[in-house]
Amino acid sequence: MTTVGILGGGQLARMMALAGAPLGLRFLVLDTAGDACAGQFAPMVVGDYTDRAALEEFASRIDVATFDFENVPAESAQWLTGKVPVFPNPRALATAQDRLAEKTLFRELGIPVPPFADVPDRAALDAAVAVLGTPCILKTRRLGYDGKGQFRIKTPADVEAAWDALGAQAATVGLILEGFVAFQRELSVVAVRGRDGEFRAWPLTENWHVDGVLSASLAPAPVDDALRETALSHARKLAEALDYVGVFALELFCRDGELLANEMAPRVHNSGHWTIEGSETSQFQNHLRAVLGLPLGDTRMLGHACMLNWIGAMPDAGPVLREAGGHWHDYGKPPRAGRKVGHATVRAEHPAELAASLRRIGEALGRQAQVAPVIARLG
Ligand code: ATP
Ligand code: MG
Ligand code: MG
Repeated sequence: MTTVGILGGGQLARMMALAGAPLGLRFLVLDTAGDACAGQFAPMVVGDYTDRAALEEFASRIDVATFDFENVPAESAQWLTGKVPVFPNPRALATAQDRLAEKTLFRELGIPVPPFADVPDRAALDAAVAVLGTPCILKTRRLGYDGKGQFRIKTPADVEAAWDALGAQAATVGLILEGFVAFQRELSVVAVRGRDGEFRAWPLTENWHVDGVLSASLAPAPVDDALRETALSHARKLAEALDYVGVFALELFCRDGELLANEMAPRVHNSGHWTIEGSETSQFQNHLRAVLGLPLGDTRMLGHACMLNWIGAMPDAGPVLREAGGHWHDYGKPPRAGRKVGHATVRAEHPAELAASLRRIGEALGRQAQVAPVIARLG
């Protein structure tokens, strides 16, 4: 019996545990919160990610370790490698945790990025704004997610407010300034690399964010072959450079037909949730196969899929469940403003059918605005 240890016990760990059950896997979750939602399906060790006693207990009960949470301290991940195999490797994790390190790596690999500059102090911010111009975005280098830890500088007059909001973090998690990209579309590559170096990617996904949080994803993203090949080649280069094992996502901005890399997530990703019902093999199953050294599953799509995130509170399930291709995921979390509490995936053979399903769901739930951009893209 193989036990997979997961650092972090959120919905990603929960869906991993669900995907691993048919493979006969056991799971053990380490999380700081005793009520983490993966705990409903897997035993837990409750403790801080830097708590040596908790890590010792966790390591003693597992065969291999992986992550649902990308901000596990790299030293803890490194320490774990002395006890069990850890995938992805701590260097990949450390690179992806730091926006400056990841963007520097992208650039070294020839993957285009928005202009960026390190911001160690206030003078550096003024200098960086002078070079990059406005609009631009000040972000924390580490620990940001769902658009948290970011400040949009629309004009030079906003610099003061940006520093007031984030300046104190320059000395702790670091800051980076990025040029604002007036993109037409956001895309992501969700891909997997096996222990033997085999690389597979799911069809490109198009994503829509609201207030910095993912709202909807559509796969396959309607893009031409050349763009898809470029995106996949960026993802493959990155995975190889990091000797990455497992699933990861590369977020891309598409501006005037050009791709710019925003960030990578060293884990299964929200923009890949549609793979549970929309692909031959889900990202969760393939992540487990990768970390266990099993053959990777086929990543081909089954029709067209749209994922809708439920933020804050779960809506009524009825309108989704009534659709032939409607699938419901409730993470079992108490409602809270801004929190990802569940999602739905709607799948259909043809784009027009998917659009019709989404239109019915949007109307029934009063969420026309959430489905509108996806319907527009489906034509
Ligand atoms: P997550 O990890 O949840 O994807 P995050 O907090 O790491 O989010 P980013 O991905 O950097 O944040 O930014 C969130 C969203 O804000 C992006 O998906 C994009 O819509 C917008 N955004 C971020 N950076 C830029 C940029 N340089 N130019 C234009 N828009 C941006
Ligand atoms: Mg991020
Ligand atoms: Mg992002």
